[in-house]
Amino acid sequence: MEKKLFKLHFRAAKFLGSEKVCRNKIKHPTEEKALRAMMHHNEWDGREHDVEIYPCPFCNQWHLGGIWPTDNIEKFLKSKSLPNRIKDKFKQMKKSRHVAKKEKENG
Ligand SMILES: [Zn+2]
Repeated sequence: MEKKLFKLHFRAAKFLGSEKVCRNKIKHPTEEKALRAMMHHNEWDGREHDVEIYPCPFCNQWHLGGIWPTDNIEKFLKSKSLPNRIKDKFKQMKKSRHVAKKEKENG
Protein backbone atom coordinates (compact mmCIF):
# COMPACT_ATOMS: atom_id res chain seq x y z
CA MET A 1 0.00 0.00 0.00
CA GLU A 2 1.13 3.50 -0.77
CA LYS A 3 2.61 5.25 2.23
CA LYS A 4 0.20 8.19 1.95
CA LEU A 5 -2.84 5.95 1.84
CA PHE A 6 -1.48 3.87 4.69
CA LYS A 7 -1.20 6.99 6.83
CA LEU A 8 -4.70 8.15 5.90
CA HIS A 9 -6.24 4.82 6.85
CA PHE A 10 -4.19 4.70 10.01
CA ARG A 11 -5.31 8.13 11.14
CA ALA A 12 -8.94 7.59 10.19
CA ALA A 13 -9.02 4.28 12.07
CA LYS A 14 -7.87 6.03 15.22
CA PHE A 15 -10.83 8.38 15.02
CA LEU A 16 -13.25 5.54 14.39
CA GLY A 17 -11.99 3.59 17.39
CA SER A 18 -11.00 -0.02 17.99
CA GLU A 19 -14.61 -1.17 18.42
CA LYS A 20 -15.35 -0.29 14.85
CA VAL A 21 -12.14 -1.05 13.02
CA CYS A 22 -10.51 -3.85 15.01
CA ARG A 23 -12.80 -5.75 17.35
CA ASN A 24 -14.48 -8.84 15.90
CA LYS A 25 -12.44 -8.50 12.72
CA ILE A 26 -10.14 -11.12 11.28
CA LYS A 27 -6.52 -10.10 11.78
CA HIS A 28 -4.07 -10.57 8.94
CA PRO A 29 -0.48 -10.31 10.14
CA THR A 30 0.92 -9.04 6.84
CA GLU A 31 -0.27 -6.85 4.00
CA GLU A 32 0.33 -9.70 1.59
CA LYS A 33 -1.89 -12.10 3.51
CA ALA A 34 -4.60 -9.45 3.83
CA LEU A 35 -4.42 -8.83 0.08
CA ARG A 36 -4.84 -12.50 -0.63
CA ALA A 37 -7.90 -12.65 1.63
CA MET A 38 -9.27 -9.53 -0.04
CA MET A 39 -8.92 -10.99 -3.54
CA HIS A 40 -10.50 -14.20 -2.37
CA HIS A 41 -13.46 -12.30 -0.91
CA ASN A 42 -13.92 -10.07 -3.95
CA GLU A 43 -14.09 -13.09 -6.22
CA TRP A 44 -16.69 -14.76 -4.03
CA ASP A 45 -20.19 -14.78 -5.54
CA GLY A 46 -21.87 -14.71 -2.13
CA ARG A 47 -20.27 -11.42 -1.04
CA GLU A 48 -22.43 -8.46 -0.13
CA HIS A 49 -19.89 -5.92 -1.34
CA ASP A 50 -16.25 -5.65 -2.30
CA VAL A 51 -13.71 -5.06 0.42
CA GLU A 52 -10.26 -3.52 0.68
CA ILE A 53 -7.47 -3.89 3.17
CA TYR A 54 -6.47 -1.35 5.79
CA PRO A 55 -3.76 -1.17 8.42
CA CYS A 56 -4.93 -1.23 12.03
CA PRO A 57 -3.42 1.15 14.58
CA PHE A 58 -4.83 -0.93 17.44
CA CYS A 59 -3.43 -4.40 16.76
CA ASN A 60 -0.85 -3.32 14.16
CA GLN A 61 -2.14 -5.93 11.77
CA TRP A 62 -4.39 -5.71 8.72
CA HIS A 63 -8.15 -6.03 8.36
CA LEU A 64 -10.66 -6.12 5.53
CA GLY A 65 -13.39 -3.51 5.33
CA GLY A 66 -15.75 -1.87 2.90
CA ILE A 67 -14.07 0.24 0.24
CA TRP A 68 -13.39 3.76 1.44
CA PRO A 69 -12.26 6.07 -1.38
CA THR A 70 -9.18 8.14 -0.60
CA ASP A 71 -11.09 11.39 -1.18
CA ASN A 72 -13.64 10.40 1.41
CA ILE A 73 -10.97 9.50 3.95
CA GLU A 74 -9.38 12.90 3.40
CA LYS A 75 -12.73 14.62 3.85
CA PHE A 76 -13.39 12.62 6.98
CA LEU A 77 -10.01 13.53 8.44
CA LYS A 78 -10.49 17.16 7.52
CA SER A 79 -13.77 17.20 9.42
CA LYS A 80 -11.91 15.79 12.42
CA SER A 81 -8.98 18.16 12.22
CA LEU A 82 -8.36 20.40 15.20
CA PRO A 83 -9.49 23.73 13.70
CA ASN A 84 -12.76 22.14 12.62
CA ARG A 85 -13.28 20.53 15.99
CA ILE A 86 -12.82 23.91 17.66
CA LYS A 87 -15.21 25.53 15.21
CA ASP A 88 -17.82 22.85 15.95
CA LYS A 89 -17.43 23.35 19.66
CA PHE A 90 -17.80 27.07 19.23
CA LYS A 91 -20.96 26.55 17.21
CA GLN A 92 -22.34 24.31 19.93
CA MET A 93 -21.52 26.86 22.60
CA LYS A 94 -23.20 29.60 20.62
CA LYS A 95 -26.24 27.41 20.11
CA SER A 96 -26.58 26.49 23.75
CA ARG A 97 -26.21 30.15 24.76
CA HIS A 98 -28.89 31.02 22.27
CA VAL A 99 -31.20 28.37 23.71
CA ALA A 100 -30.54 29.57 27.24
CA LYS A 101 -31.33 33.14 26.23
CA LYS A 102 -34.55 32.06 24.57
CA GLU A 103 -35.59 30.09 27.61
CA LYS A 104 -34.98 33.14 29.75
CA GLU A 105 -37.05 35.32 27.44
CA ASN A 106 -39.88 32.87 27.47
CA GLY A 107 -39.74 32.80 31.21
ZN1 LIG B 1 -6.86 -4.44 14.54
